[in-house]
Amino acid sequence: MAARGKVAAFRLPPLPTIGEIIKLFRLKALKQLSQNFLLDLRLTDKIVKQAGELKNAHVCEVGPGPGGITRSILSAGVEQLLLIEKDARFIPGLQMLSEAAPGKVRIVHGDILTYKMEKAFPKHLKKDWEDEPPDIHIIGNLPFSVSTPLIIKWLESVSKRDGPFTYGRTQMTLTFQKEVGERLTANPGSNQRSRLSIMAQHLCTVENCFIIPGQAFVPKPEVDVSVVHFTPLVQPKIQQPFELVEKVVRSVFQFRRKYCFRGIETLFPENGRLKRTEQLMMTANVDPTLRPFQLSMSQFRNLCNAYRKMCDEDPSLFVFNYREELRQKKMTETLLGSTGQPEQT
Ligand code: SAM
Repeated sequence: MAARGKVAAFRLPPLPTIGEIIKLFRLKALKQLSQNFLLDLRLTDKIVKQAGELKNAHVCEVGPGPGGITRSILSAGVEQLLLIEKDARFIPGLQMLSEAAPGKVRIVHGDILTYKMEKAFPKHLKKDWEDEPPDIHIIGNLPFSVSTPLIIKWLESVSKRDGPFTYGRTQMTLTFQKEVGERLTANPGSNQRSRLSIMAQHLCTVENCFIIPGQAFVPKPEVDVSVVHFTPLVQPKIQQPFELVEKVVRSVFQFRRKYCFRGIETLFPENGRLKRTEQLMMTANVDPTLRPFQLSMSQFRNLCNAYRKMCDEDPSLFVFNYREELRQKKMTETLLGSTGQPEQT
């Protein structure tokens, strides 16, 4: 894969190494917070290069920790760098970096899952959605327990053009557990094809840039790590609301190994289920005996469009919840007992 950006457009003054910063501020990685640090600046440069040209760009780094990636971002000659770090122990080390790049760094001690990204950058950077992406980038090596819910939240924001996408098609370069990286980019027919593949690829160009072996981190995580780059698409491949696409895709993948109609059935109430499932599959022109992982993006699009049409005709359909129906059924069975008659108390 060709490297995108250049690093080393700005020279930081001599600083303690990341290893020395860790010792100096006693920044022992907390296992319960899945903290794994990158100390090798060649590797952090390689991650930052994947973001593209960062000279004079505005960047938000999520979870900077002891600041390895932060240094590479600053070396790329950015205009402004916003750091969002949840763990207060890292703030003094980040302040030291901020002093080394006067006027460039803003440090927020906060949680990226709740931080208001729609106000994070200057207004003049906003671009129309149809334009080139704005000169704004998000970069981060977060714990896996945060990066997956975060990308789901941000995919919804891409669809709604809110949060960091208030500014246009903001690009993201994030790390994931290798297997999640494979799911994000999996093609039809692949074993890794899943809900995440459809949700990500219908909204973004997703690129699995390279793998970082687990041993490159301190302490070493159990798994290898993927660096994934996202550029929101001008036109989503499925032009339906996020919630509707999510519902259809989640239902289809509910029974991964079965024919796809088995999952699609769960979109409909028991009364009329078979007939409505057949109607949906026919309108969408999808073979009901395909397995969920074999379906192409255009087949998902047809399914979502056909389901939308049915929901417009019967608005009660969209709020139908299969699990709730199952729960109610079980409760009724328990109340009636095995005789089918109410139990005497
Ligand atoms: N980026 C550093 C590196 O590559 O060496 C640290 C990586 S470590 C895997 C993840 C970092 O994200 C930690 O510094 C941790 O405190 C921070 N973090 C975890 N959850 C966070 C959240 N919800 N918001 C902001 N930062 C978070």
